[in-house]
Amino acid sequence: MNYNTEDIQQIAEEVAKLVQESIRQKETEKQVPQTMAEFELAFREALRRIGVEALGIFLSDLQQTPENEIVCACGGRLHYQRMRPAVTMTVFGKVEYCRAYYAGCTCGKGLAPVDRTYGLEAGGISSGLGQLMALAGIAFSFEESEKWLKEFLLFEVSENSIRSETQKMGRLQQEAEQQDIQTSQSEKALQARLREEKQVPPRLYGSIDAAKVRIEPRARKGKPVGEHEDWRDMKVGCWYQAEAVPFSRQSARQRRKAQREGTVFRTTQHQYYCEIAHVDEFGKLVWATGCQATADWVAELVFICDGATWIWELVAQYYPNAVQIVDWYHAEDRLKRLADAVFPSPSQRQAWLANVVESLWQGQVEEVIFACQRLADQHDQARQAATYFSNNSHRMRYDLFRAQGYLIGSGTIESGCKQIVAQRLKRAGAQWIVEGAVLTAKARAAWLSGDWHSLCQKRASLPLAV
Ligand SMILES: [Zn+2]
Repeated sequence: MNYNTEDIQQIAEEVAKLVQESIRQKETEKQVPQTMAEFELAFREALRRIGVEALGIFLSDLQQTPENEIVCACGGRLHYQRMRPAVTMTVFGKVEYCRAYYAGCTCGKGLAPVDRTYGLEAGGISSGLGQLMALAGIAFSFEESEKWLKEFLLFEVSENSIRSETQKMGRLQQEAEQQDIQTSQSEKALQARLREEKQVPPRLYGSIDAAKVRIEPRARKGKPVGEHEDWRDMKVGCWYQAEAVPFSRQSARQRRKAQREGTVFRTTQHQYYCEIAHVDEFGKLVWATGCQATADWVAELVFICDGATWIWELVAQYYPNAVQIVDWYHAEDRLKRLADAVFPSPSQRQAWLANVVESLWQGQVEEVIFACQRLADQHDQARQAATYFSNNSHRMRYDLFRAQGYLIGSGTIESGCKQIVAQRLKRAGAQWIVEGAVLTAKARAAWLSGDWHSLCQKRASLPLAV
């Protein structure tokens, strides 16, 4: 928004005077602000208080001359009662305003049209404040958020309301996903996407993983609390693209990596989704978010995952033509762990490992399987590794994958799991019931996917309970 410079100048002079006066008054209390930080705080507080008053005046002025009668949502008639005061919590704090209030319909409901039009809820939290509270709530525990927000806002909001605003955003994301699931089940709706002229990337990546979330034990009949602490799998998926990082922009670490791997990739356009649900339910979300990401249209769809069976089954069910790649680092790590278990001598261990890792890198999975089998008679772990490499051999043609310029590491989804689950749901002080964990994770996934502002728009136009 643009403001007239002269108007701003004039108001600024008034504000400066106001703050000077308040500082002078404080001299008697011996609490005179003296440092820059104290001046800044004094100005912030003054501007906040002005914001409270100005917003109150502005909101009250939104009310045009009230009509005598308006149509009720039920179709009946509402009659003008009086100008009725209300308060709402905003980014400046508690704002009082006045607006026309209607009642007297046969349905028994009342209405303040200004509230409805601008998404205000008497006694509630404005959408601007709600967004900020939710933003803190997806980053910190709700308890920490309370302290953090107080520093920024200069007034207090409760831990409970931060939780509620955060989960409100999660619920909006959940509703959007439910909508996408419906769309993705309808051939007609999927066809309609053709008209949206969506940009279809030539190559799209998908990854899926899961991380454990601790769910609070709840009292069950006849059993004391605490004996049934519950860990649930938060399944996390991501759609993304990748581009090579040019040499001039590679970090020292990336250059070392480039020496070995040739190309260093950077992943972009991340779209995260998550759910605590059975794999069949999660599959619907994989398909629905995939339709949004045009996974069903791209010329090349590549899945890079850690090798869990349920994941590959899901991929095969929904995307039978996708290229499947076992994350290189998981495969390599499997060999490292085997070597650690089998060879007590470091030199022997390193020699075996160097050889077998090179074979894997060159896509010679048969060699790797053979090397494991040779140890299988004496070591159970080697037998298991041989089975693992046999089952996944078609997903480990790293020579071909590299020749195609495919990414072969699933770092993106591991980072996604870390950011969504570990960094928020596992924070100190976090205690979850399933719904709270899911909604908070979904809100956080939306933020990480760059969908936050579209959620905020939805938050601003939420239909209000009358
Ligand atoms: Zn009515």
